[in-house]
Amino acid sequence: MQGKIIFITGGVLSSLGKGIIASSLGRLFKDQGLNINMMKCDPYLNVDSGTMSPIEHGEVFVTADGGETDLDIGHYERFLGQNLSKSSSLTTGTIYSNVLNKERSGGYLGKTVQVFPHIMDEIKLQIKNNLKGYDLLFVEVGGTIGDIESIPYLEAISQIIAEDLENNFLIHAAYVPLLRATGELKTKPTQHSVKQLMSLGIKPNMIVTRNEIALSESEINKIAMFCSVKKENVIQSIDVDNIYQIPLLLKKQKVDQKIADFLSLDLKHSDHLELSNVIDKINHATLEIKVAIVGKYTQLADAYISVTEAIKHSAIVNQVKTKIDLIPSQNISIENLKDYDAIIVPGGFGESGIDGKLETIKYARENNISFLGICLGMQLSIIDFATNVCNLKVEHQELNPKSKNPIIHLMEDQDLEKLGGTQRLGNYNCQLIENTKVAKIYQSNLIQERHRHRYEFNNKYKEVLENNGLVFSGINPELDLVEIIEYPKNDFFVAVQYHPELSSKLTQANPLFIELIKSAKKRKLNKKENNA
Ligand code: GLN
Repeated sequence: MQGKIIFITGGVLSSLGKGIIASSLGRLFKDQGLNINMMKCDPYLNVDSGTMSPIEHGEVFVTADGGETDLDIGHYERFLGQNLSKSSSLTTGTIYSNVLNKERSGGYLGKTVQVFPHIMDEIKLQIKNNLKGYDLLFVEVGGTIGDIESIPYLEAISQIIAEDLENNFLIHAAYVPLLRATGELKTKPTQHSVKQLMSLGIKPNMIVTRNEIALSESEINKIAMFCSVKKENVIQSIDVDNIYQIPLLLKKQKVDQKIADFLSLDLKHSDHLELSNVIDKINHATLEIKVAIVGKYTQLADAYISVTEAIKHSAIVNQVKTKIDLIPSQNISIENLKDYDAIIVPGGFGESGIDGKLETIKYARENNISFLGICLGMQLSIIDFATNVCNLKVEHQELNPKSKNPIIHLMEDQDLEKLGGTQRLGNYNCQLIENTKVAKIYQSNLIQERHRHRYEFNNKYKEVLENNGLVFSGINPELDLVEIIEYPKNDFFVAVQYHPELSSKLTQANPLFIELIKSAKKRKLNKKENNA
C-alpha cells in the first residue's frame, strides 16, 4: 500500500490540544492495524528543544535515540504505545542548517539558494523520509495559522497535497469560543482561520472544533458551509477532564472510517478494547493517592508533563485516582508536604530551589514516604544521604564548579562551552544488581532507559555510602556510572539518574512509577485500617 499522510494544522489560538488530537487519531489508526509514524513541525529557529526553557516551552522530551524534542512527541509516544525517533521532531532551525550545510558543501552549485524552493524542498524531503516504511504518517504543524513562521511549512504541505490529492488528508483544528453572555458558540474565528489557510492554497478535508459545549446543528452547518467541508466532516472535540478519553470520543464520530474512506485505507474494525478498558478503570477508581512533584519549573504544568502522565498511567494499573500537585521547591514548607502519599523530586538544572529539594528528600527518607528521585532528584538524594546520614561535607559540581569535594561531578566527555545537544542523551544500558528492589520491579537484570544530564555520581564515595546503608542497585556497565540508588530501610525510596517518565506509555506504565504508586496505596490503605 502506498503511504498516506494526514496533516494537522491549528487555527484561532495556540495550546488548542492539536497534539492530543493527532495522538488520539494515531492511536485509533494503530488499533486498526496500520503501521503509524508521527511528526511535528515546529516553526522556531532552535535546532532542537534542548536549549529552551521548560517554563517557556514546556518539557523537553527525549527520544530513545537521543533527540531533544518538542513535548508533543511525548504525547504521540504515550498514546501510540510506540517509541518514535528524533526525526519525528522537525524545526525550522534544522531545515535551515541542513540547507546551509548543503550549500557550503556545494550541493546547490551555481544556484541562488532561496526560501522558495530550497527551504520548501527540504521540508518536503524530511516529511517524505518520515513516511518511508509506514502506512500512515501524521504531520502536525506547530503554531497557529496566520503566524509568518509557519508559512514555509504550509507552502510545502500545499505542494505535497497538490501533487497527490488522493493520498493526503488535512485536518484543521480550530477553537470555537463560547460567548457566555449569550451562551452561544462563535464560529467566525474558525471561518477566518480557514480563509487564511485557503489563501495559502490549502483546503481542509476535515475540521475538528475545540469547544467547551456541543455545537448545535446550525453551528455545524455554518462551519461546513463557510469552511467548504462536508457537514459530516465537522468533528467536535469537546473539553474533557481526561485526555485519554479523546480517541474514543473521536471514534464515536466515525473519524477513522471517514478518513479511511477518503484515503482508501483498510481498517480491521478494531473494538479498541485496550482503550475502553483503560477508560473503565479510570472511571471506576475511588481511592485517591496524593502525589507531590517538588521542582522549580512549577509555573507551567507542561514543564513536567511526562512525569504527570507517567503517574496517571501507573494509577490506572493500581486502580486508584491521583491528585497531582506541582510544588515550587524555592519556598517549600515541609508542613505542606505532610498531606502527600508519594513525593517525586524530578530533573532540573541550576541552583534555584535546591535547598527546598534537599529538605523534601530528607523528609521523605526520614518519614518513609514513597519517594522517587529523577536525575537531579537522584543527585540530590545522594547529597542528602552523604551529608545527613554519613556526615560528609560534599557538593554538587554544577552548583560549585570549583568544589574540592564534588560527590556529583561533571562527566568526562562534557564540554560546558557547547550546550546544544551535548548532554548524555537517550537510551543507555543499566545493569540491575541481583536481589535489589529494582531488579524485582523490572524483572530483568539489564534495562535501557532515557537520559539527559551532564553530571554523574563520583564513584570515590561509593564505599562510604554503602557502609551507611545506601544500595547502588543499577550501574551502567560500559562506563561504570551509577544509574540507580535505593534505600532499603524504607518501603520505597528509589532514585535514578535516568528519566523513567519518558518511556511510560498509556497502556505500558513505567515499572518504577507503578511501584511508587503501589507502595503509596499500600501505606494509605494501612493507615485507613489503623484509623478505622
Ligand atoms: N543538572 C543535572 C545534570 O546535568 C541534572 C539534569 C537533569 O535532572 N535532567 O546532570
